[in-house]
Amino acid sequence: MDLLLSGRACARRQTRQVRVGHVLIGSNAPVVVQSMTNTDTADDFATTMQVAQLARAGSELVRITVNNDEAAKAVPKIREKLLAMNLDVPLVGDFHYNGHKLLADNPACAEALDKLRINPGNVGQGAKRDTQFASIVEMACKYDKPVRIGVNWGSLDQSVLARIMDENAKRAVPRDAGAVMREALVTSALESAAKAEEYGLAGNKIILSAKVSSVQDLIAVYRDMAAKCDYPLHLGLTEAGMGSKGIVASTAALAVLLQEGIGDTIRVSLTPEPNGSRTQEVIVAQEILQTMGLRAFTPMVTACPGCGRTTSTLFQELASDVQSFVRDNMPIWRDQYDGVENMSLAVMGCIVNGPGESKHANIGISLPGTGESPAAPVFEDGVKTLTLRGDNIANEFKAIIENYVARTYPRKGAAA
Ligand code: SF4
Repeated sequence: MDLLLSGRACARRQTRQVRVGHVLIGSNAPVVVQSMTNTDTADDFATTMQVAQLARAGSELVRITVNNDEAAKAVPKIREKLLAMNLDVPLVGDFHYNGHKLLADNPACAEALDKLRINPGNVGQGAKRDTQFASIVEMACKYDKPVRIGVNWGSLDQSVLARIMDENAKRAVPRDAGAVMREALVTSALESAAKAEEYGLAGNKIILSAKVSSVQDLIAVYRDMAAKCDYPLHLGLTEAGMGSKGIVASTAALAVLLQEGIGDTIRVSLTPEPNGSRTQEVIVAQEILQTMGLRAFTPMVTACPGCGRTTSTLFQELASDVQSFVRDNMPIWRDQYDGVENMSLAVMGCIVNGPGESKHANIGISLPGTGESPAAPVFEDGVKTLTLRGDNIANEFKAIIENYVARTYPRKGAAA
């Protein structure tokens, strides 16, 4: 059946399964959300705090830069501090240029990490490239850690690119530069994975990524890579950018691939607004998966855009208030109740679509539009249960949500 008409995602691509700490990636495991810190890793306190913030927001893996000896020495301290906070989120070490040396000099760092990320384009030049790559793989084998071989078009292995350009020049009809670059990315990832296996890393310890910053290139590269291997794939549009541009570009690229069953873990690489929260990238990643119906993390609020029928800001304020209320309460609800993340809410601006949309949600409220009688009917599981009036609608609606949660979702650990 036509993919769009069927309204369903394709079956997930079948892959090997990789364990990263307590998290499974690939095969039939849920698509995993991950993120990356932007603190100086050597500052173990600041980095621990940001990892904790990302993990609490729902990041199931957190990557940290390991760029020098101080950072490598901080990694075990970060791990200890997280454990003292009761957070066992898997940590991924991001290595470029000197990973072979940092890991050899700091075995406690290798031990404290749950996964190593290597960029084949930045692992070393010439003859050193292979020995340095081999020594990182050796450390991964020694400490039984999986590895992400993460290729990036900003740091593509120049020897692979040169070889593929030469091959292309000999073709009767040479391909364009974009096609050559895409092939070089995929080749670099696949050849590096084959080499890692040759050096002793098990096939179920390898995850691949090949990131670019253009949506169409990313889709083409991942389709190609997915067809050529069965390693789990880490999806992400690199350098997606800031604000709505970064969100839209990431969503456009990831949604196409996820819909085709491609992608086992995702990261949304947003540039935070100045003083903005790093957790935005986690929320966007979750929302991509949840709006596509692939996973549920937190109750979603459906709200209409408003129009000339809503001349007050009441319904915008209520929609925002309800979304924050749900997000703030979710850590508590998640611990107490089973399935609450699947709850759907609607906050609507007037009678045109308000009652109809509210009936489709678990709990919906249809606020009065301009000129309507000042009453807001509330619907629970499709049935109108009461009408709110007056100045306290927001608090009363939030109390209705709390009540609904308590009586609808089974308490965790309670006997059936
Ligand atoms: S539900 Fe009413 S207020 Fe909202 S967009 Fe539709 S017509 Fe406008």
